Amino acid sequence: MARKKQTRGACVYCGKEMTRGGLVRHLKTCNERKQAIASADEQKQGLRQYIYHLQVQNAWGGDYWLHLEMNGETKLNVLDHYLRAIWLECCGHLSRFSVGGGWGGREVGMGTITKRILQPGLTLNHIYDFGTESETLVKVVDVRTGRPTIPNPIALMARNEFDQPPCIECGKPANWLCIECLYEEDVGGALCDEHAETHPHDDYGSPMPLFNSPRVGMCGYDGPAEPPY
Ligand SMILES: [Zn+2]
Ligand SMILES: [Zn+2]
Ligand SMILES: [Zn+2]
Ligand SMILES: [Zn+2]
Repeated sequence: MARKKQTRGACVYCGKEMTRGGLVRHLKTCNERKQAIASADEQKQGLRQYIYHLQVQNAWGGDYWLHLEMNGETKLNVLDHYLRAIWLECCGHLSRFSVGGGWGGREVGMGTITKRILQPGLTLNHIYDFGTESETLVKVVDVRTGRPTIPNPIALMARNEFDQPPCIECGKPANWLCIECLYEEDVGGALCDEHAETHPHDDYGSPMPLFNSPRVGMCGYDGPAEPPY
C-alpha cells in the first residue's frame, strides 16, 4: 500500500517547509528562532519563565498539527481557547484535558498553571465535545527558560499547510464538502468549485467550505480555523 504523503508546514521564523517531525528537530536549531529568543531575552519587558514547545496533532491521523510555544505562567484554559479558535469551536461544547488516553485518563483542571503540569515527554489529551468528540494530543517536546517572543501567552511556530483532498467527481483539489456524501456514501464528500455548484444533494444543506481543521464535517463546524492572534 502506498504510504500517504505527510502534510508539511513552514517554520514561521525562517520559512523553511518541513513535515511535523522534521520541525521538531528544526525548531531546536533554527537560527532565526534563536535570534528571536535572544532579542526577547534582552528586553526588560516580559516575565522570565518556563516556556514550552508543544507539538499538537489530531489524535486520529495526525495530518493536522501545530507547533506552539506556551508560557509556563499561564493557565491551561488559555490552550483550550487557542485550540477552539484555530480548530474546534462549533457550538460551545464542553472540553477537558487529561493525562492518559481518552476517558480513562486523569483529568487536569482548566485552571492549572501550565508549569505545574507540563514537562518534556508528557502528552496531554484534549477532548472537545463529549458527543461528537474531537480528540487532540498535546505533546511537550521541549522547554526553555526566558522571555516570550510575543506579548500573547501562546506563539504559533508552525502549522500544517492545508492539503486539499481530491474532488470525488473529477479529482481536482477540493474546496467544498458535501455532508450527505460524507455520512451516507462511502466516497467521502470533497468537491471542487465547479462540482460543488452542480452537486445534487441538499438533505444536510448545500456543500460546506473546507477548512484547515480536523473538525470539518463534525457537528456544525463551519470554520474559520484561524488562530486567535
Ligand atoms: Zn526555522
Ligand atoms: Zn457543535
Ligand atoms: Zn470536481
Ligand atoms: Zn453529496
